[in-house]
Amino acid sequence: MKPSKMRLFARNAAVATLMFALATEPCWAWGRDGHRITALVAESYLTPSTKAAIAELLHGQRISDIASWADDIRSSQPETGPWHYIDIPRSEPKFDRNRDCPVNAKDPKSPWRDCVTDRILYFEGRLGDESLPADQRAEALKFLVHFLGDIHQPLHAIGDDRGGNGIRVSFLGSTQCGNYRCNLHGVWDESILEHRGLSDEKYRDLLLKEIKENNWEQMSGGSPVAWAEVSHHYAVNAYAPNGALIDHAYLEEETKVVDAELALGGLRLARVLNRILGSPDQADPTRPAANAPSANPAPETTTAPKQ
Ligand SMILES: [Zn+2]
Repeated sequence: MKPSKMRLFARNAAVATLMFALATEPCWAWGRDGHRITALVAESYLTPSTKAAIAELLHGQRISDIASWADDIRSSQPETGPWHYIDIPRSEPKFDRNRDCPVNAKDPKSPWRDCVTDRILYFEGRLGDESLPADQRAEALKFLVHFLGDIHQPLHAIGDDRGGNGIRVSFLGSTQCGNYRCNLHGVWDESILEHRGLSDEKYRDLLLKEIKENNWEQMSGGSPVAWAEVSHHYAVNAYAPNGALIDHAYLEEETKVVDAELALGGLRLARVLNRILGSPDQADPTRPAANAPSANPAPETTTAPKQ
């Protein structure tokens, strides 16, 4: 190959690599597995009347079948992109709606803004509004199932470096994580879950056991802002500098957080759906018995990753 041709080939190869990296870099919250596992946990806590209402709205599909739908439509409906996260700065402990949740770009006068905490409440309202056509309530259900997962992904509650997408890391000695170059957000979306090596159903069963052992039903309530602030707290603890090594010690600590967040995401999703779609005369299994012992707090992490 002549030098000029070789340069062209090298440049085209570099462009192709870049395009591939941009196309495959995950930056949309829990990957498919995390969303499916959250929904599988929720399904275990739905009342019969809630399940029947879901089956009617989704024409026989289950919430675990549609848990990633909101990611699938994101490129064709880019205005929905900011609904998946909330940008609390790393330096701030609390959510501030004016600072962290932008007004709706298409409709600045709308009372609903463009971030995940607002959109959960917005779609709760639409799902419960029986005057809306069934297809619009079904769409609200699909967004809600997805966003209850997203808000429990800690890196979706921190604004710095695009939620850690801009932080290059190496994961157990490799800078390549599947099809993408490892970054902190992607590690939280997928690599930590994949490292578990469990099928979605086995992972669900493990989480159901952890919920019982830790009395996490006690924490099935709360508001989207409260959930986002806990996620943010986890993200600040788990934050790593550019070039950080994600090692076994980091994984061991943060896997506990991932488990707690997936389990709580599922429990809270079930509670929201039972409240909106369930019959009031069926007891909600996400609510603990009145005499249950008090809950252990969710795990705290203090491990700082090595640089
Ligand atoms: Zn998402």
